[in-house]
Amino acid sequence: MKLFTRMAGSFVAGETAEEALKQVRKLKDKGIMVTLDILGESVTDRAQADKAVQDYLDLLDILKENKEDCHVSLKLTQMGLDIEEEYCYRNMVRIVSKAKESGRFVRIDMEGSDVTQKTLDIFYRLRKEFDNVGIAVQAYLHRTAKDVDDIIKAKGKIRLCKGAYKEPAKVAIKKMKDIRENFIKLTETLLRESDYPAIGSHDGKIIEWTKAYVEENKIPRDAFEFQLLYGLRNKTQQKLAADGWRVRAYVPFGTHWFPYFFRRLRERKENVFVVLKNMFR
Ligand SMILES: Cc1cc2nc3c(=O)[nH]c(=O)nc-3n(C[C@H](O)[C@H](O)[C@H](O)COP(=O)(O)OP(=O)(O)OC[C@H]3O[C@@H](n4cnc5c(N)ncnc54)[C@H](O)[C@@H]3O)c2cc1C
Repeated sequence: MKLFTRMAGSFVAGETAEEALKQVRKLKDKGIMVTLDILGESVTDRAQADKAVQDYLDLLDILKENKEDCHVSLKLTQMGLDIEEEYCYRNMVRIVSKAKESGRFVRIDMEGSDVTQKTLDIFYRLRKEFDNVGIAVQAYLHRTAKDVDDIIKAKGKIRLCKGAYKEPAKVAIKKMKDIRENFIKLTETLLRESDYPAIGSHDGKIIEWTKAYVEENKIPRDAFEFQLLYGLRNKTQQKLAADGWRVRAYVPFGTHWFPYFFRRLRERKENVFVVLKNMFR
């Protein structure tokens, strides 16, 4: 068995688009929608960024050929943000316009706080031209409430998550209880004021709070979606879908899996046991 399968297979859907599509179909059978992510980030070389752009353009062709209506998710440092902002923007125009041709949606993941503003700047430029592009924001950043207001004003679609990078207290809330509290406050704003938000969390308290708030306030179930990561809380994903909630799994694939895999291990110690169990099974 390949090292990849034994180590990262719990959280990553394979190394190729073909392998990922198999998982997409399994999820679809359970009523779970998908956003596909080709793993990659922190690219400092133009040839590598060009290749990442081409991989996404090819993926969009494959999705069209296979009539899979998945979204795609990507990181701007994968598309050359650390090389030159204008180059990254032009790369994104190629991907978002190609996605638009076949009616597909592109979500920009949010990365470390050193690139938050640059990521938002490129998102706002793209949003002026395209309605099929959205952005992720992180509840742990002190700045996010203001960003959410600004993105809503720009009619942007938002995925809210807690945030997965190691950040100093100057920019980020550090206590889990306070991050959750801020997440819930932001969820309320998103459900009241934004267009089709995505609530990206595995946290039972957040999921239950959201369900109760939506029911109490008679918010239609198709006005938002839950998003969870591939391989995490599978039963919860299936139960949400079976109970009639809109659920999308974030399904990463590709060979550059280590940073993503490492973030999953760091954020929850139980994930280490999941990997060890799969390795020795
Ligand atoms: C769809 C999606 C997209 C994301 N995109 C980004 C992004 O663009 N940028 C970014 O920085 N981060 C992103 N993240 C990661 C996110 O920021 C968090 O690091 C990650 O989701 C962990 O936070 P959590 O709220 O899911 O739960 P945690 O804070 O890890 O856990 C909270 C509680 O939830 C329960 N729980 C969590 N996981 C499990 C489990 N597997 N089984 C049982 N109980 C569990 C436990 O009770 C736990 O104590 C994304 C996450 C999701 C789901």
